[in-house]
Amino acid sequence: MLPFLFYENRNKYTDLRFLAAASSDGEINGISGFSGKIVAPEIGEVTEGGAVYFQLRDWGTGSIFGSRKNALIKLILKTKEDRSMFRLLCQEGTARRGEFVTPHGVIQTPVFMNVGTAAAIRGGLGAMDLSVLGTQVLLCNTYHLHLRPGDDVVYALGGLREFTRWSGPVLTDSGGFQVFSLAGLRKITEEGVTFASHIDGRRIFMGPEESMRIQSHLASTVAMAFDECIQNPAPYEYTRRSCDRTYRWLVRCKEELDRLNGREDTLNRKQMLFGINQGSTYSDLRVAHMKQIARLDLDGYAVGGLAVGESAEEMYRVLEAVEPFMPADRPRYLMGVGTPVNILESVARGIDFFDCVMPSRNARHGHLFTSRGIINIANQKYRTDPAPVDEACGCPTCRDFSRAYLRHLMKADEMLFFRLAVQHNLYFYNRLAADIRAALEEGRFRSFYAEKREIYGKRI
Ligand SMILES: [Zn+2]
Repeated sequence: MLPFLFYENRNKYTDLRFLAAASSDGEINGISGFSGKIVAPEIGEVTEGGAVYFQLRDWGTGSIFGSRKNALIKLILKTKEDRSMFRLLCQEGTARRGEFVTPHGVIQTPVFMNVGTAAAIRGGLGAMDLSVLGTQVLLCNTYHLHLRPGDDVVYALGGLREFTRWSGPVLTDSGGFQVFSLAGLRKITEEGVTFASHIDGRRIFMGPEESMRIQSHLASTVAMAFDECIQNPAPYEYTRRSCDRTYRWLVRCKEELDRLNGREDTLNRKQMLFGINQGSTYSDLRVAHMKQIARLDLDGYAVGGLAVGESAEEMYRVLEAVEPFMPADRPRYLMGVGTPVNILESVARGIDFFDCVMPSRNARHGHLFTSRGIINIANQKYRTDPAPVDEACGCPTCRDFSRAYLRHLMKADEMLFFRLAVQHNLYFYNRLAADIRAALEEGRFRSFYAEKREIYGKRI
């Protein structure tokens, strides 16, 4: 009963990754016959489950040799290119410039996704505004849309892209974060979470399967896995058990989404799935969980559970610990982060995708990001100021309107203020991502980062 090797090979542009499952008393002796260069001919550590990973750098046919109790095993491998969607264009240190090909368009990374929680950007912005603002991805919220209007409504109207008339890629979060932060009284079991709606208090159950079904109804480009979000700091032992459960939930998410993508009546049968790394601020738990989820070969990987109470330095430390274990050939998404400086620091640590409500939320309070620092438009000094919010900005607000006019609109509580302010801040964030991409392409990200991080956090 010998076959103890098998391989797993999915869609890579650069690396072919194989998984050889060896029993702990077995060993893998060699690889031969591949047309391509073997990157890691010496086999890595055998994990607890007896799995070994190694990588090859080309497509082809060949074999792997192994032995177990002196019996030689040979496995013939045939590799072929399949659905690989992420391509690294260039790198500077750990900072990455890439391209993510989706059925709804190509996303240039690093990218800042624009948050439209309930299928609109708060501040009165819709699909007609987004392309002008340089938006690449619209992010919508599973929890909110499930409660109102109901994902069955969105499904009946053809999915989120038809419903909102935004034709580009859409990412839906799983609802996990809201279930754990917004919903009242909840009960967590292995099956999922029972909670009370924050709108009318009615009891709702959501587990991995429910989250996938809702996101499949919403027909987003990318669905996020359903995970448990815990506050920082969290006790070590609780975090460890929570990571294990989040892993089991992820396996269920993958199975359910595969099943849904196979159905005739599914709107987007090419819906992709990103897994989410958890583990609070414990580097060892973060790394162990990342290694575990990386083996599921998902379309992308997110780091969740950060920016929820820990310091920025702790967040960067966690990213540095986890980054080496995030698959290099998949997009990496840092959820819910953050300030322009957080984004620069995280790009430097290998992150590709971001989202945050900060540009729209801060705009509504008069805090506007500019190329010279952050301004508070309510300030008396702008009362008669004819200059635009930011002379270096090309957004529709700065093209036409003065600081004095915006300040007046804010003081008069005019709705137009929210629209103009949010437009400017979103444009600033999208532009920041575009500037980061340009700096990476030109090999000057380090100097760009050093210069801008001094400026972007400053209040002026
Ligand atoms: Zn502007």
